[in-house]
Amino acid sequence: MATETRPDPRNVVSGPRQVLLRSYVGIVTAGGLGLIAVVLYGATLRNLPGVDAAFFAVVGLLMLGQLRPLFTAGAPDANGVMVSIAFVFAILLRYDLSLALVVQTLAVVISGVSKRRVLWRTVFNIGQYALSWAAAWWVMGWVGHRAEASVPVDLTGHTLLPALAAACTFFFFNELLVAVPVALTAGTGVWAVLRPNIVYELLTTGALLTLGPLVALSMEAGPGFVPLLVPALIAAYAVGSVALQRENQSMLDPLTGLPNRKRLGERLTEAVREGQVALVLLDLDRFKEVNDTLGHYVGDQLLMLVGERLAGSLRPSDTVARLGGDEFALLLPGADAEVAWQVTERVRLALVEPIVLGGLLVGVTASTGIAVSPEHGTDVDVLLQHADVAMYLSKESGDAEVYDAARDRNSPARLALLGELRRALETDELELHFQPKAELATGRVVGVEALLRWRHPEHGLLTPDAFIPLAERSGLIATLTAWVLDSALAQLARWRSQGWDLELAVNVSVKDLCSGQLVDRVTQGLRTHGIPPSSLQLEVTEGSLFVDSVRARSTLRQLEALGVALSLDDFGTGWSSLVQLRQLPVSELKVDRSFVSRMDEDPRDLAIVSSVIHLARGLGMRVVAEGVEDLATWRRLAALGCHSAQGYWLSPALPAAELDPWLAEQLFPSYDEVSDIDGAQV
Ligand code: C2E
Ligand code: CA
Ligand code: CA
Repeated sequence: MATETRPDPRNVVSGPRQVLLRSYVGIVTAGGLGLIAVVLYGATLRNLPGVDAAFFAVVGLLMLGQLRPLFTAGAPDANGVMVSIAFVFAILLRYDLSLALVVQTLAVVISGVSKRRVLWRTVFNIGQYALSWAAAWWVMGWVGHRAEASVPVDLTGHTLLPALAAACTFFFFNELLVAVPVALTAGTGVWAVLRPNIVYELLTTGALLTLGPLVALSMEAGPGFVPLLVPALIAAYAVGSVALQRENQSMLDPLTGLPNRKRLGERLTEAVREGQVALVLLDLDRFKEVNDTLGHYVGDQLLMLVGERLAGSLRPSDTVARLGGDEFALLLPGADAEVAWQVTERVRLALVEPIVLGGLLVGVTASTGIAVSPEHGTDVDVLLQHADVAMYLSKESGDAEVYDAARDRNSPARLALLGELRRALETDELELHFQPKAELATGRVVGVEALLRWRHPEHGLLTPDAFIPLAERSGLIATLTAWVLDSALAQLARWRSQGWDLELAVNVSVKDLCSGQLVDRVTQGLRTHGIPPSSLQLEVTEGSLFVDSVRARSTLRQLEALGVALSLDDFGTGWSSLVQLRQLPVSELKVDRSFVSRMDEDPRDLAIVSSVIHLARGLGMRVVAEGVEDLATWRRLAALGCHSAQGYWLSPALPAAELDPWLAEQLFPSYDEVSDIDGAQV
């Protein structure tokens, strides 16, 4: 597989970037520590006489505050904001750099130990703060404020400007020093790291810096005034955490704790602006069935687990979001289509790893659609829509799909086809073909299934697969179904007037079951053409019953009450539970042709077919095998106890006019041996 062709660049910061990252961390750390050593050389002891009680009050408060850092919502790293900044700044203004560095270092060490942070990070932070404060100190002196630790400085009107300059300098250096390693890890620009958080940083770090001079002023008033700041800080904590919760609620999915659609949108906008990015939409297969059969609790467990597995297979700078229901999204900054495809394959592998859920061993599969920017669009909505289109293709192919404009059903060509289909309904381009269905035991033809065809002026004869999905998505399906019902019933009335008593099967879409118009249409059609309800059968695909089960089931019940029989089409391709099967008002199962056509070669398909027959008989339903293409299969099905069959071996679907002679022959054989259907035409 292509997974092996190129190492996945998501996993590691490799090669030159890693060297760069390591050297950077090394330089900042060494520079900061060196600076501390130089500044402290002899200075602290010399300064100590100037230290007053207010200083120790501040240090005491700081230690307390440091054990409970301000956690905030959009925090770019989870360490929260160091409250120490306000206190250290006050010390810088009132005493000097050496004391500020000692206190700041102490604060970082306490925070690092209490958070069990890795050593190199703590040491890096010490260096980073030391450099930032030194820069602030230098600028402050340059603007005109010189503090001396031996004699604490009282703030005056003249201190305001230097204090402001120092605050700005610290802010700038501190942000920059932290952003560089993040940018190196993510492989993006420094500004790209800074910009999304700049407002947040101004409101937190910036606000703490403005508190600095106020702390210094209260220190002047005496140590007794310093604790008066505590209620204000506690209030700030409270406000901060409420704001944090609110932001969390609006940006995070409550069940999985992952970012929600809103936050994904923001990050996607950001990433698109930065350049290359891949968006992967991921939709769990058959999740609704898990929910319906195993219950919501188990469904929720599954979603949480999927969230964990997704997050676990990506790197920190990627985003995993839950968009709602069973839909997730992955945002991979810097990834092109090839990389995104590899990552998606790995994610899919991580998901299928079986898990025990509600007492069952479940493997999760997902449909995944990929869109990359700028190739597939630079607009967030367009990218989401294109990833969605790819995801629908993935539902059909069972593989990860990258967006391809040529296969986009919403592409101009598809939209044109939809317009033509509207017109076709008025211009006689649609026609019905009928495929006979016969009893296996006797060979007697018992009915026909109406199958829609479109005689397109340019593309020739189109089968339903080419346009039914389009009609289903556009709402045109209701009109189409109405047309099919009416035409098929009209043809049945003609056959009945010739004395041919046939059952008629009509396919209806899941959209019809949910629309609420179907029952009226059927009632009216039967009345108009004088057909007894027992002669009509509606076929619904097995999968469709799960889409909107409440409304679909109510429609099915009403049809049953009307006396119209229901058949579960393509049986074996969906996941009906036995419980559901028993509860549905269905009188017939149609074994999907994929199993029937292979049952001669593949013993597993034979096993499926024979157990479906067994199951249906046990539930008192009739079984129809579709796609019977040869005599051997026909005989085998008869031996298994299958009731009836359809397929090319008996006859393909034909226009009524072409089917008539064949039907006449079958219904009123000119030769004696009715049961010898071996001579049926192909
Ligand atoms: P289906 O209901 O499973 O219909 C059977 C399909 O299998 C038909 O394809 C038929 O031509 C084909 N078929 C019949 N015998 C054999 C055989 O021996 N071997 C093989 N390989 N195929 C066989 P068709 O007509 O292309 O229809 C495709 C699907 O389109 C249908 O599947 C049905 O789900 C849908 N469809 C057809 N007509 C309508 C309609 O009027 N309304 C709606 N909503 N769906 C329709
Ligand atoms: Ca059918
Ligand atoms: Ca079928």
